[in-house]
Amino acid sequence: MRFIADLHVHSHYSRATSPDMCPEGIWKWAQLKGIRVIGTGDVTHPEWIKELKTKLDPLGNGLFALKKKYWTDDIPGSCQAEVSFILSAEVSSIYSKNGRTRKVHSIILVPDFASAERLNSSLSKIGNLKSDGRPILGLDAKKLLQITLDASPEAMLIPAHAWTPHFSVLGAASGFDSLRECYEELTPHIHAIETGLSSDPLMNWRLSDLDAITLVSNSDAHSASKIGREANILDTDITYAAMMLAIKTRQGFLGTIEFFPEQGKYHYDGHRDCSVSLTPKETIRHNYLCPACGKKVTVGVMHRVEKLADREEGFKLAGAPSFASIIPLPEIIAEGLECGVNTKKVNALYLPMLERLGNEFRILLDVPLEDIDRASTPLIREAIARMRTGNVHIAPGYDGEFGKVKIFEEGERKRIISGKRL
Ligand SMILES: [Zn+2]
Ligand SMILES: [Zn+2]
Repeated sequence: MRFIADLHVHSHYSRATSPDMCPEGIWKWAQLKGIRVIGTGDVTHPEWIKELKTKLDPLGNGLFALKKKYWTDDIPGSCQAEVSFILSAEVSSIYSKNGRTRKVHSIILVPDFASAERLNSSLSKIGNLKSDGRPILGLDAKKLLQITLDASPEAMLIPAHAWTPHFSVLGAASGFDSLRECYEELTPHIHAIETGLSSDPLMNWRLSDLDAITLVSNSDAHSASKIGREANILDTDITYAAMMLAIKTRQGFLGTIEFFPEQGKYHYDGHRDCSVSLTPKETIRHNYLCPACGKKVTVGVMHRVEKLADREEGFKLAGAPSFASIIPLPEIIAEGLECGVNTKKVNALYLPMLERLGNEFRILLDVPLEDIDRASTPLIREAIARMRTGNVHIAPGYDGEFGKVKIFEEGERKRIISGKRL
């Protein structure tokens, strides 16, 4: 069965995370978005495990369901669907290796609470798991991989947002130049990396080193409405084992749903505080120094890929899973209505569109444009048509600043509204 999975989110026990990231909120928004399997996040946190044990029932296949008494009745009939949870966590490792400080985030997936508890009993000897849903440990990422495999042979560790400058396995500031440099003889146990918001498969295919690695995408959501902003499309039985096998072999791993990488907040280089955004070439011309303040710029994902790549831009890896690039529906609506994303005007159209057309992924990827037109406005229909063909302008993100989506040129809106499609 074809379905969408988002394996990396955070609970309300993580720092800067919304209270709606509770089992009920995650369950609700998974349905609004069209996600069949969603990570719990934060299973390293003892209080969160307690809450999950109270509110979830094991399905006997490595996945979990929200107990019926916690279901809410505020989900449009057009979106109501079964949701399964997969036990997931993220660990932040900060340590020194080969003479440099390394900061690497890892996603961990486990098939049952017993495995999570074995993992936690090992990790709690190293650091405090209660201080944050995403604990920070002085633990080598390779050692974390070993501890994960010791907790359960079915457990999987996936390097998180593998290219972000400050906290990732290949990041410019504190990562490595290859997976092997980080994981050494355990590298064969790394089956996948998370590409993160600022890179897409096209960028990753430029490294022959990653040819055998499955490129997964997840939301890393800290609030429920951000669930599924990136996700995976699988075609397998809906069980833990079948999903892990698909990630390992790519049999049944159809591909990913991605941000346009320019929209990610570390695509280009630059300095956010100085409003300086630089292409990799410009950074090199400025000798890696900010033209405004003279300090070293934050080197983004595009630059880092360029540096480690052994293939030209545009290379397509034969036989690799495909991907679709999307812009979240609230941003599309905001473009169509010429207003901010977090406004009443956007909210006033978002739910009614879902009620009429189905979940957000159906609207973005599948619903015929005529139906979108009838349920929204000609501008929103046109914006979705352009998104589907990749015909959008995005001012690239840099140094923590998200990229800015611009679908319409000046003057285009009037022509579209008056019925003259371009
Ligand atoms: Zn992270
Ligand atoms: Zn600066």
